[in-house]
Amino acid sequence: MNFLESMLSFIFPPTCGICGKENKNYICSSCTEKLKKEKTYMPYIENYTEISHCYIFKYDGTIRKKILQYKFKDSAYLYKMFSEFFVKNEKVCRFLKNYDIIIPVPMTKKKISKRGYNQCELIAREIAINTKNLEYLKNILVKQKETNTQSTLNKKERLNNVKNAYKIQNVQKIKEKNIILFDDIYTTGATCIECAKTIINAGAKSVGLLTIAKDFQKIK
Ligand SMILES: [Zn+2]
Repeated sequence: MNFLESMLSFIFPPTCGICGKENKNYICSSCTEKLKKEKTYMPYIENYTEISHCYIFKYDGTIRKKILQYKFKDSAYLYKMFSEFFVKNEKVCRFLKNYDIIIPVPMTKKKISKRGYNQCELIAREIAINTKNLEYLKNILVKQKETNTQSTLNKKERLNNVKNAYKIQNVQKIKEKNIILFDDIYTTGATCIECAKTIINAGAKSVGLLTIAKDFQKIK
């Protein structure tokens, strides 16, 4: 912890992201227990043909509310709690050892200035700080066009919506590297797959996905 960080934690002591009580781990043990009882906590790794996907939660209940708060209610501080879920989980840490670089799913500059932060950047950076092997790189994968909100679209429309929305800057940095792509929620996978394709086409060796939650609702 540097001087500024210790000053900040003195003025704003770390709190549990769920109940708000002071807690140095950003999530208290009783909220952890409650989350586990909701049966949304299910750290899982799925292997598709070309890509592996690791997520911690089913997108439902308390965690769904917290993700929505984090994205839309000016609650950047919650990134600490979310990154704890990853770096404290052995299964996730073993999975992350297969990769060299962590890249967040990007937003356009316009969207970032509206929200004030990119929720994926904050968590991806914190995961890299807390794992020894991952380098955090931002502004490598960039979003080059504004897209419609995915949540109102069906699966086919989602794929079309994000088509060619991303590009790679500074190709050399990812050549022959194993990349982990971080997103908050996995729904149809349209965004993740488009980003992964863009990264692979630029010469990366492999791409894996890491998300907080997977949404199991059926989208046509
Ligand atoms: Zn709590």
